[in-house]
Amino acid sequence: MGILDSKVPSGPLADKWTKHKNEIDLVNPANKRNIDIIMVGTGLAGASAAATLAELGYNVKTFCYQDSPRRAHSIAAQGGINAAKNYQGDGDSPYRLFYDTIKGGDYRSREANVYRLAEESVNIIDQCVAQGVPFAREYGGLLDNRSFGGVLVSRTFYAKGQTGQQLLLGAYAAMNRQINRGKIKSYTRHEMLDVVVVDGKARGIIARDLITGEIERHSAHAVVIASGGYGNVFYLSTNAMGSNVTAAWRVHKRGAFFANPCFTQIHPTCIPVSGDHQSKLTLMSESLRNDGRIWVPAKAEDAQAIREGKLRPTKIPEEDRDYFLERRYPAFGNLVPRDVASRAAKERCDAGFGVNKTGEAVYLDFAAAIQRYGSEKALTSGIKDPDQATITKLGEEVIAAKYGNLFQMYEKIVDENPYKTPMMIYPAVHYTMGGLWVDYNLQTTIPGCFSTGEANFSDHGANRLGASALMQGLADGYFVLPYTIGNYLSDDIRTGPISTDSEAFDKVEAEVRANLEKLLNAKGKNPVDYYHKKLGKIMWNKCGMSRNARELKEAIEEISALREDFYQNVRIPGGLDEVNPELEKAGRVADFLELGELFAKDALERNESCGGHFREEYQTPEGEALRDDKNFRYVAAWEYKGAPKDAKLHKEDLVFENVELKTRSYK
Ligand SMILES: Cc1cc2nc3c(=O)[nH]c(=O)nc-3n(C[C@H](O)[C@H](O)[C@H](O)COP(=O)(O)OP(=O)(O)OC[C@H]3O[C@@H](n4cnc5c(N)ncnc54)[C@H](O)[C@@H]3O)c2cc1C
Repeated sequence: MGILDSKVPSGPLADKWTKHKNEIDLVNPANKRNIDIIMVGTGLAGASAAATLAELGYNVKTFCYQDSPRRAHSIAAQGGINAAKNYQGDGDSPYRLFYDTIKGGDYRSREANVYRLAEESVNIIDQCVAQGVPFAREYGGLLDNRSFGGVLVSRTFYAKGQTGQQLLLGAYAAMNRQINRGKIKSYTRHEMLDVVVVDGKARGIIARDLITGEIERHSAHAVVIASGGYGNVFYLSTNAMGSNVTAAWRVHKRGAFFANPCFTQIHPTCIPVSGDHQSKLTLMSESLRNDGRIWVPAKAEDAQAIREGKLRPTKIPEEDRDYFLERRYPAFGNLVPRDVASRAAKERCDAGFGVNKTGEAVYLDFAAAIQRYGSEKALTSGIKDPDQATITKLGEEVIAAKYGNLFQMYEKIVDENPYKTPMMIYPAVHYTMGGLWVDYNLQTTIPGCFSTGEANFSDHGANRLGASALMQGLADGYFVLPYTIGNYLSDDIRTGPISTDSEAFDKVEAEVRANLEKLLNAKGKNPVDYYHKKLGKIMWNKCGMSRNARELKEAIEEISALREDFYQNVRIPGGLDEVNPELEKAGRVADFLELGELFAKDALERNESCGGHFREEYQTPEGEALRDDKNFRYVAAWEYKGAPKDAKLHKEDLVFENVELKTRSYK
């Protein structure tokens, strides 16, 4: 297998993880006290891992660029977290979660990792409940569940529309306990700008203190990258404004392979773009698809009248509405996976049925759910012969209890009452399935450099199912990495502290400083955002929801030219030794400008459609993604060789022994 050895343990699927845990080397508690670990990122993946590693006895240094771990992008997660608890008695099991995830990812993920994820999912809920995470409960006090796309069971645990926030508070509290014990040293407002490899092993990082501007050296026996996803390569996305690829990309440039960069998730239910002034898009959680029905007018003239402001959607009778997901996918209906729902919405809008001024919006309608819940509530409340107004009022109360904060958010942004008028939604960039290639132990191709959470590529294949990013981040952090990293560190018990006073640190620090100075010295005329917006437009138009060879080739040329222009003409006010947000942004955009090109190259190389990667040349007569298992059943892992055009492709063949490779159907 050479350098792409996935290190998947042998044996039956269901026994692999237990067997692995039983066989890997451990570090004894006294030796753990002599071992240092750097954790870059304190979102859900990094915070959970840092807290657990420190609890085990390791010395952990955490880094984040925000002023508190509590501000990580993870806090934005709304809808929920999956776990195969089968609390609903609806036939769920770890195998079913595993199967749904493999199928959801369009058979482009590694079986063993996904099975482990499904197994560990049940432990996450217990762990978080023990921390005091206030998951929603049913009337009887048991934890409640709802459904997310691509599954036929209810396995999503949630805390209203603020699941990420509550989970992060739990993980952060666990971190704080260790900060208090002196086992975690937390570096906030610090940005990792490079990894230091000593004798072939990751032994530290170079970070910039974002307040003083000081460039610092930090050493450790292992480095973990938990720096989140890179959806902001598209400029407009649902990600936090600061989300970026820098940590992962700099590690890539030092030898870590970057896997499946073109696998991006476009989420179907976001508030549509309203104009060029925007710098951020807002998600309307997938949980809304439990109750909301997605539709457009069945008649093009009605759609046009709506766009012109001459017709209200509430005036369109049932028979003139096209509930296109229910029509095309009767088995899964509005809960098809995100890639399928996004493409279907685009198809309707491209055909002229879009409903907002730009023609790029479809409706998400709660009227039927309000009536259904209202009637039920009237019945259970003993109200005889309720009138329409009572039913509507009761139904709206039920909807408010379930999704109130999301409805409020929508109303504040769009200035329309979604209880009375259907929401308008359109797909937007949301999550990146690609990331640092890792083996079963979550180790990258640089020994001693690990990666967890959205920053790695590990579990979601070509499309991630909803509510499974939190599951992956927390499974990695609480239950996987703390064991697997020990296997690696068991060789380091006699190493002693790693000095930062070495040639390797000198060299990397000098390079980091030179890169920053190069940016500052450009003294051009264009602000950083000028380039970021241009890159985003190329990405969205040519590498977005659908792709073709011609446009991908154009994108590669255009991004390369834009990158050249950036280094000539970018203008960064201020200096190095001070708070300088433009300099921070410039570094991140510089990396996006390289990643963007590799992204397009990866999409061009993958001559098939799978999950979120839709190549127009490869589709079924019904417009569904057409995989090519014979030629593309692999993870594309790219090795850095200088310019993105020179990146070298390595392939990890995906072996399916426990699921049958089938055409993915949600009909
Ligand atoms: C609006 C929204 C809603 C979502 N809802 C859900 C949901 O309901 N369920 C679900 O499963 N998933 C959801 N997701 C996806 C999920 O939130 C993310 O995938 C997940 O939170 C990522 O966690 P993470 O820990 O990997 O990264 P992040 O939370 O992004 O954390 C990254 C960390 O890395 C740090 N960092 C980054 N670069 C550097 C650097 N160079 N130096 C130092 N520190 C660095 C940051 O400071 C931060 O601490 C949602 C995503 C969005 C955008």
